[in-house]
Amino acid sequence: MAWDFETEPEFQRKLDWIDRFVTEEVEPLDLVFRGPSDPFDPARRGPAHAMAPLKRIVQAEGLWACHLGAELGGKGFGQVKLGLMNEILGRSRFAPTVFGCQAPDTGNAEILARFGTPAQKKRYLEPLLAGEIASCYSMTEPQAGADPAEFTCRAELLGDEWVIHGEKWFASHADFSRFLLVVVVTDPSVPIHQGASILLVDRDAPGLEIVRNVASGLREEIGRGVHGYLRFAGCRVPKENILGRPGQGFEVAQSRLGGGRIHHAMRTVGQLKRALDMTCERALSRRTKGELLAAKQLTQEKIADSWIQITQFRLHVLYAAWLIDKHQSYSREVRREIAAVKAAMPAVLRDVVYRALHLHGSLGMSNETPLMALWQLVPEMGIVDGPTEVHKVTVAKEVLREREASPGLWPTYHLPERVAAAERRLAASLELELGNL
Ligand SMILES: Cc1cc2nc3c(=O)[nH]c(=O)nc-3n(C[C@H](O)[C@H](O)[C@H](O)COP(=O)(O)OP(=O)(O)OC[C@H]3O[C@@H](n4cnc5c(N)ncnc54)[C@H](O)[C@@H]3O)c2cc1C
Repeated sequence: MAWDFETEPEFQRKLDWIDRFVTEEVEPLDLVFRGPSDPFDPARRGPAHAMAPLKRIVQAEGLWACHLGAELGGKGFGQVKLGLMNEILGRSRFAPTVFGCQAPDTGNAEILARFGTPAQKKRYLEPLLAGEIASCYSMTEPQAGADPAEFTCRAELLGDEWVIHGEKWFASHADFSRFLLVVVVTDPSVPIHQGASILLVDRDAPGLEIVRNVASGLREEIGRGVHGYLRFAGCRVPKENILGRPGQGFEVAQSRLGGGRIHHAMRTVGQLKRALDMTCERALSRRTKGELLAAKQLTQEKIADSWIQITQFRLHVLYAAWLIDKHQSYSREVRREIAAVKAAMPAVLRDVVYRALHLHGSLGMSNETPLMALWQLVPEMGIVDGPTEVHKVTVAKEVLREREASPGLWPTYHLPERVAAAERRLAASLELELGNL
């Protein structure tokens, strides 16, 4: 009997330590450094100064960059343990960086470790894992995101260099990254899944221009933000800066996106728990019509619904993580479950955060609680790493793959045939039963 919902005591002690450390040491940074790039840009002097001693403590505890498997030179915790860790780290904007496992650097490090040459690892992976530099993953284009077949950003090998022409959009952290992983079309004569490649482009490569920075939401002025609108106008990179083989771009990207999506889901569990904590504290503190909100059945229903949705979502995320650990690859079954949690995520977040906001009344609408920032995550989580519809299509295709059409005119569950067949099979018993009448 292998099903088990318990955490090993030794790892639970680590989780307890992480919980205390994040609450006492890391969350204060969230309150003070509130710029969009503060946790991610190593050149932000104030945040970098505040994070440096915390990063050293995390390293000394052996909890730095736990996302990498042992085969890739990491701790090899596996996804279930990482999921439990991320539930805590997800509460804080700074915590993933303090623990060396912030997106998009985690996924970038993973594919560099998996597909990079020794020279690429030395130049890009080592400083990235040490937390000295930031990186960017640039795939989406202004005219195409969810459907890669529409990508047009093109790279041609001319002599010893790749020459890139085209535009990219919403490339998070491009402005302050040291290098970008750019998905480009290298062979337009074949379907994109065979004709795309990933190039490593230094941020200061000639011909790479940031047209403007873009923010998600309304918090920043136009032109500011951490997502880059990029133009490659004959941008040149050395021939050896290809990650993997020419045409292998989608295989490389796929091995990164699965991890990215499940890590988002893990951190979202942390945000959901935070929203429920706030809901409960408010319900136990606010009085109306002579009693606490918590005493009202309509409030109790909200709390129960949030608890049920969070528990279901959390178990689903951990199940997907367990499957990854079991298969050690992004098999069909694993991809179905990752797509399922990715598709479920915005809806759970919407319901749980909305209940929390609503129960806080005007305070919930204000800029004086973390709730409105959580609310902004709802639509973001439905788009980032691909829209919900696309993930639902993946789930449905995988579910349908295991099913078959009716063999004839009537379905296999059509009752007249089934009853007749059951009566034939149980004729002797039926006769005895009729004799009793
Ligand atoms: C916060 C944030 C950070 C991001 N960071 C990065 C990054 O670092 N690098 C990067 O490359 N990209 C990044 N993105 C971009 C993201 O990957 C894309 O936004 C996403 O893939 C969707 O592409 P799109 O925006 O072009 O939307 P579209 O592809 O135009 O889709 C828009 C809508 O059309 C509908 N739709 C699309 N396809 C289908 C379908 N098959 N069936 C039914 N309906 C469909 C859906 O309603 C969908 O929401 C980021 C996005 C966000 C919000």
